[in-house]
Amino acid sequence: MKLLLVEDEPKTGDYLKQGLTEAGFVVDLARDGWEGWELARTLPYDLIILDVMLPGLDGWQLLAGLRRTGVNTPVLFLTARDQVDDRVRGLELGADDYLIKPFAFAELLARVRTLLRRSRAALEPTLLKVADLELDLRRRRAMRAGRRIDLTAKEFALLELLMRHTGEVLTRAYIASQVWDMNFDSDSNVIDVAVRRLRAKVDEGYSARLIHTVRGMGYVLEAQHPNAA
Ligand code: CA
Repeated sequence: MKLLLVEDEPKTGDYLKQGLTEAGFVVDLARDGWEGWELARTLPYDLIILDVMLPGLDGWQLLAGLRRTGVNTPVLFLTARDQVDDRVRGLELGADDYLIKPFAFAELLARVRTLLRRSRAALEPTLLKVADLELDLRRRRAMRAGRRIDLTAKEFALLELLMRHTGEVLTRAYIASQVWDMNFDSDSNVIDVAVRRLRAKVDEGYSARLIHTVRGMGYVLEAQHPNAA
């Protein structure tokens, strides 16, 4: 995870950069607004931590410029305690969160992690599609050729796993570890039974089969699998 920290106060900048680096992030430190602008525009960052009071280009101008040019990297801005209007302004300009100076480093770290989690979640696909099979993760719905498939919670989880790994042969042990709990006995035939039931719902009545058994290995979901039985 790569962060850009824009902070003109040398001590604060060094301290935050060191702390974030120790927490496992790769951190570029820009010491004024123009440097921050150049870096933010040209390099891909997962998050920008932006001080508002900066020499040259200030934090607001920088943020507005980024959003205007289509850079949607999450921004956490740092503002002074007495600048209440700043918070509204920053959020209106498209910042994602703010912190009031002075703050504890642990709080910065918590905000950074939350923002990164949130932006990753937004990038996650909500619809998985293989041939004419669709799995809508948000509405918890499976469709094949436009027809609804009713699945149990386990079958849904199993189909989601297979679709997320389209074209990869998944072993029974792997499937067990992802869909069943850790106490599951993977020597039993529960997985085979579950796959058979799922296959009946997903493939029966359609000319192209999507769920294939790979003898001695496991299962694979894909439109065409030449080596599958
Ligand atoms: Ca400053």
